[in-house]
Amino acid sequence: MKKRKVRPQAWIALIVVILLFIAAAFFIILNKKPALSIEFKENKTTIEYGTADVKAESLVASFNADEVIYPEIDTLKVGPQKIEFVLKSKDKEKKVEYTVEIKDTQNPQITMRQETVEISVGQSYDFAANVESASDAVDGALPFKADPSKDEVNYYTASSNADLTKVGEYTVNVEAVDQNGNHATASYTLKVVESDQMTNGSNGNIEPTYINGILIVNKKYGIPADFGGYNEEASTALETLQAGANAAGYDIPLISGWRSYDYQVGLYNAYVETDGQEAADRYSARPGFSEHQTGLCFDIGAVDDNYGTTPEGKWLAAHAHEYGFIIRYPEGKEAITGYMYEPWHVRYVGIDAATEIYNSQTTLEEYLGVSG
Ligand SMILES: [Zn+2]
Repeated sequence: MKKRKVRPQAWIALIVVILLFIAAAFFIILNKKPALSIEFKENKTTIEYGTADVKAESLVASFNADEVIYPEIDTLKVGPQKIEFVLKSKDKEKKVEYTVEIKDTQNPQITMRQETVEISVGQSYDFAANVESASDAVDGALPFKADPSKDEVNYYTASSNADLTKVGEYTVNVEAVDQNGNHATASYTLKVVESDQMTNGSNGNIEPTYINGILIVNKKYGIPADFGGYNEEASTALETLQAGANAAGYDIPLISGWRSYDYQVGLYNAYVETDGQEAADRYSARPGFSEHQTGLCFDIGAVDDNYGTTPEGKWLAAHAHEYGFIIRYPEGKEAITGYMYEPWHVRYVGIDAATEIYNSQTTLEEYLGVSG
């Protein structure tokens, strides 16, 4: 049997073909990309409500893709939030869903205007008035609710077992709950004192008192901090009075008219510092108890104890009522009005009342039947 001889060329061709196969296989394996995939740092991520600029990129540990399109995260929506990552390669696209949990865990903040509030006994007081703000960094200001039911959220309350008809020191509790149920409490002290024992003035929380249409402001009857202002009617009456004085040959200049609550705070505190509280209370009103805040009274002529003995002062005492004014703190009436004699301080009450008070030589307190 003749042995068939394989030619060397054929061997070489076979080896070349095998090598080409191997090379092709390597080429395919090396060029074959792994499937599109993404790995996250956590299984589920919790994000604080309202956090600004939270990027979906920050949730990703690694990925296999030519391109990733990242979703937006809405941190102003509380609860689980499904977001979708899009992975892309040349000819493939894959969507991967992921869940973030938006949580609001921040407690609201309660800010008081003052640590201690002082009111006079018998005065009504709104416990919430001392709350400057109850707000959440993300929810904003919480509304006041007088009486929320238990399962409600997004409010603040102020409550106390204070008996405002009795002198004492009480605690007012303020509670705030944001819209996600986060909770905060705070408290302040409410001091109920005799009105002549008040150290801070009225705190601006007293309602004005009118008797027969006439506003009474003295050490017992206060006015709110934002009450009063320039008074047109009283100011016009003053100009008429000054013109009347001029016609009689006198000059009665205006020294001080309307003064704001805040101005009175500074004035009273300065007097207390200089003369002590007891002395200051004889001639200066505590904030919220100053007639000057009403715009209805004026210091005119000269702030001088002897002004009443001068020709101008005498003319003023005799004629003020003709223009609707009274000498508000007459001589010898300190026990009634609460203030020393002030011949320069006139109060506008209208011509009828002023004339009656002048003729009866009484005080506004006596005329209205109230104490000072
Ligand atoms: Zn005055």
